[in-house]
Amino acid sequence: MSGGHRLDGKAALVTGAASGIGRAIAEACAAAGCAVVLADLNGPGAGEAASAIVAAGGRAIGVAMDVTDEQQVEAGFDACTTAFGGIDIVVSNAGIQMVKPVQEFTFDEWRRMIGIHLDGAFLCTRAALRRMYAAGRGGCILYMGSVHSKEASALKAPYVSAKHALVGLAKAVAKEGGPQGVRTNVICPGFVKTPLVLAQIPELARRHGISEDEVVRTIMLKDTVDNVFTTVEDVAQTALFLAAFPTDALTGQSVVVSHGWHME
Ligand code: NAD
Repeated sequence: MSGGHRLDGKAALVTGAASGIGRAIAEACAAAGCAVVLADLNGPGAGEAASAIVAAGGRAIGVAMDVTDEQQVEAGFDACTTAFGGIDIVVSNAGIQMVKPVQEFTFDEWRRMIGIHLDGAFLCTRAALRRMYAAGRGGCILYMGSVHSKEASALKAPYVSAKHALVGLAKAVAKEGGPQGVRTNVICPGFVKTPLVLAQIPELARRHGISEDEVVRTIMLKDTVDNVFTTVEDVAQTALFLAAFPTDALTGQSVVVSHGWHME
């Protein structure tokens, strides 16, 4: 499903692409004609997802890549150049969640959350910019933010902090990259039923002393306009629209896709 947006002749690298939102974005990019590197800490999972794309007629490879490891990020980007001749689109998407009050977080847990979401975004941004500037054909960097890039929830302090920070990173990189034709935008989804979200429902129920059904109704969907979860396809279509946008007019923005949970 490409919704009419085409990426023929382009090459993309998507992090966290073995599962959930990242996998759906990789599939949508491939369906739009883009060659895709699916990069994930879960190397076999990335390989399986890439094989499914190839079986459907697309061009894809999977690579094992921890976004917090400088060498592995560089190697992942090199694999993209080797396989597909360059890099045009990067989707910095890998992420995790930890749910607990601030006073219970260990320093290691805090650093792990910031490391995956923010250090990972930095390492992928730097690897992308060096290659995009050298090739001189511009590019597009998309960051997976969240409604938590705009609003806070209890029990998610490191996540909310990191997701807010991505908006600043995207704006700074939009300014620096603009003269070289590199655009950046942040996608900010509401709750999407992926393993990341399904794992936190029982923990939120326990912490708030409510049922899992109440977590969904009174926390996750409370402020949506229609009580509906955002889907991986909704987020993938948003990514495709931003990646395929034909000019440099749309840069440094965050696009919220959340059934109206957050309105700008
Ligand atoms: P998911 O758990 O389905 O997928 C996350 C993927 O990231 C997994 O395949 C995992 O192996 C990978 N990953 C984790 N740590 C990594 C690392 N260090 N290096 C490389 N890969 C790593 O989760 P998802 O819901 O698809 O989340 C993807 C992104 O979307 C995250 O950044 C998340 O914060 C964001 N997001 C999710 C939701 C939601 O409701 N699901 C909402 C807003 C934003």
